[in-house]
Amino acid sequence: MCSRCFTEAPTLITYVGDSIVKIECEKCGYVFRVSKATLCSHLLSNWETRSFSKPLRLAKEIRNDPSRFILTFPFRVMSKPLRMVREVARVVSRES
Ligand SMILES: [Zn+2]
Repeated sequence: MCSRCFTEAPTLITYVGDSIVKIECEKCGYVFRVSKATLCSHLLSNWETRSFSKPLRLAKEIRNDPSRFILTFPFRVMSKPLRMVREVARVVSRES
């Protein structure tokens, strides 16, 4: 239900990764945006969760497909900081 027109209308939801950044009512056009601070703190906690669960995920990958893991791991380790910076830059540029 839209918090402006108080009707049940179709909504357009925009995500960045697993996070909702924007909800738009298609009836009245009202846009609810998640604040940058909330979004950044959610992304950071998401990264923390992913970082803590990384050893378990890596172990699963090694078990499931050892050859692919060996071939892709060095590149993924090197590109991780770059991917994190790009994700933050994308969120900040969309919200400004
Ligand atoms: Zn509305």
